[in-house]
Amino acid sequence: MEKKCDQAKYSTWLEYSVTQNAVYCLYCYLFKPYVGAQGGGETFVSVGFENWGHKEKLNQHVGGFKSVHNQAWSKCKDLLNNKQRVDVAFAKHLTQSSIDYDIRLDASIDCIRFLLRQGLAFRGHDESETSANRGNFIELLQFLADHNQSIKDVTFNNSPLNLKLTSPDIQKDIVHAAAIETTKLIINDIGECFFSLLVDESRDISIKEQMSVVLRYVDVEGRVIERFLGIEHVPNTTAITLKETLDNLFSRHGLSISSFARTRL
Ligand SMILES: [Zn+2]
Repeated sequence: MEKKCDQAKYSTWLEYSVTQNAVYCLYCYLFKPYVGAQGGGETFVSVGFENWGHKEKLNQHVGGFKSVHNQAWSKCKDLLNNKQRVDVAFAKHLTQSSIDYDIRLDASIDCIRFLLRQGLAFRGHDESETSANRGNFIELLQFLADHNQSIKDVTFNNSPLNLKLTSPDIQKDIVHAAAIETTKLIINDIGECFFSLLVDESRDISIKEQMSVVLRYVDVEGRVIERFLGIEHVPNTTAITLKETLDNLFSRHGLSISSFARTRL
């Protein structure tokens, strides 16, 4: 088939078959709701229009704006319109969701980095929306959103209910990730150099024994550096328990025992 007949009235095209000297309608063939829905029956769908003595029937087939033919043409146009395709709309939605998520996550990470660097508490006593003080993290994020429209557009009430990235679990996850990255930097900074440990033990508020560990080393520029590595919970404070905990700590962070110079307990 090839295109030939232009029905100028509604700018829709019919298909002309040279070999059969007949006109077919592809739109009606594909989208006509049922046989006989429009004058002409199957003529333009399967039989082929050959009544060249009454060409006006071509216009009659096209019909008015709401005719079956034009409805079929409209459906075909919608199908060919990429922007209306479900997969395109879905992909577009996914891309926008991904961009929004990145902005939201960056904002939460920035707030957490600030609080960590300043050594400030994250949580508030009352973090509900009616609270006058919702804690440092929420208040800082709110401050950031109030001064940055792109963050405001994707945070708090403008974010999905299950993806606000403000819950205590999310805060802990990001803090944990920050701790891993910070530790990695410290270990890289030590490199192959010798280091010593400063270890102290105390009980926390729940009477749980804990051991704080500080690394002491000389960096490549000759400066003495002390870095807090973390707190390890220990069942008791006997020498063997502390040694086992330190061994675990060493292996977890890839520290070499051969570079270990001195321990002060
Ligand atoms: Zn048609």
